[in-house]
Amino acid sequence: MKKIVLREDEMPTRWYNVVPDIPNGLQPPLDPETLQPIGPEKLGAVFPMSLLEQEMTQEQWIDIPQEVMDVYKIWRPAPLVRANKLEEALGTKAKIYFKYEGCSPVGSHKPNSAVPQAYYNKQAGIKRLTTETGAGQWGSALSLATSKFGLECMVYMVRVSFDQKPYRKSIIQTFGGNVVASPSELTETGRRIRAEFPDTPGALGIAISEALEDANSREDTNYALGSVLNHVVLHQSIIGLEAKKQMEIIGDYPDVIVGCCGGGSNFAGLLAPFVADYRNGKKIEFVGYEPASCPTMTGGRLAYDAGDVAMMTPLLYMYTLGHDFVPPGIHAGGLRYHGMAPIVSALVRDGIVTPKSVHQMECFEAGVLFAKTEGIIPAPETTHAIRGAIIEAMKDPNEPKTILFNFSGHGLIDMASYDNYFSGKLSDYSYPKDQIEASLARLPKVG
Ligand SMILES: *Cc1c(COP(=O)(O)O)cnc(C)c1O
Repeated sequence: MKKIVLREDEMPTRWYNVVPDIPNGLQPPLDPETLQPIGPEKLGAVFPMSLLEQEMTQEQWIDIPQEVMDVYKIWRPAPLVRANKLEEALGTKAKIYFKYEGCSPVGSHKPNSAVPQAYYNKQAGIKRLTTETGAGQWGSALSLATSKFGLECMVYMVRVSFDQKPYRKSIIQTFGGNVVASPSELTETGRRIRAEFPDTPGALGIAISEALEDANSREDTNYALGSVLNHVVLHQSIIGLEAKKQMEIIGDYPDVIVGCCGGGSNFAGLLAPFVADYRNGKKIEFVGYEPASCPTMTGGRLAYDAGDVAMMTPLLYMYTLGHDFVPPGIHAGGLRYHGMAPIVSALVRDGIVTPKSVHQMECFEAGVLFAKTEGIIPAPETTHAIRGAIIEAMKDPNEPKTILFNFSGHGLIDMASYDNYFSGKLSDYSYPKDQIEASLARLPKVG
């Protein structure tokens, strides 16, 4: 069978919370001023209570509201596809499956969380949401989601992507959202960084500070984050829940689960419902692939750090390269983040997730092979998962193992990146060792 499509009435109606399955649990987020665990009152300034409850909960299952299901059904359930043509081209006995998240209206997994976030903010009486976006995927997802619930949307888009991916701007605008290049002139953080580093390509950590500053300055405005946080991972569990059901229908089960990691949400969403099986003795490997030029898990440190450059977010216990690390301007803009979801970080710490890194050029090569064999052009971020799946399949090509990876998004709006690749303008960035050491030296001193 080439692909397995669920019926609408087979769609999961609850999200799955992986937090109770983490052997040594999560460390609480800290208030950046007092360094004490932060309470919901303070976070309530920018998040609705319903999302904060999801952020802290130990419940394993959370009902998906009907209004959210109605929007999900525009594109969900998403297919699970056997990449048999890729397998043939590689000459491997491994079976490779991918969960196809490119079928959402904006072409990635991001609306899985944007839609519930807009919904819960609407319920709480909020009129306007601010956010950051790297490659523009999250910004376009939130613009779509806010349009569904009648909210305004303000997006701070990392400058390098604003210039490289002009059509994501247009998608944000099509759904009615506003978008500016970050660092911008609209916030104090933006103005300060522009004065100090006029040529900065920007970074997600800068754009988050700008979006938070904006949200803090207005009563009617909240802030939405597209990755990293527990409630985002919770919403993304729909990916894994569907995939697990689909694997059951075809009578197969993954030996290896692979994903690309920016803030960790799509990978964690896929693996979430499989961790309990692992802990019950199933043999299953979880491998997260990140860019060698922004090696959060493979080159960073597990420590308390801020999620943004201005240190306005709570301190999260996560793998980090330091909150003021500005990654090289690789084309996988969605993977240019200094931190990693606390959930993924804890799974790495507890030896359940294995992190690996790959370079930009080998990823584009894998992406082109995938397009030629499977017929779908992957986003530059997704090529990291494809490269990862190929590495796993080719370790021992005679081993008939089952690999499942998340196809986080298509690349039809990223063709400028492919253009650069084909015209020889791309290269690998070396591991930015000195810069990482310098920014790790500036980690907040906790405990
Ligand atoms: C945003 C994005 C990513 C990375 O974000 P995660 O939170 O790590 O999932 C990966 N792929 C695509 C297509 C994206 O848009």
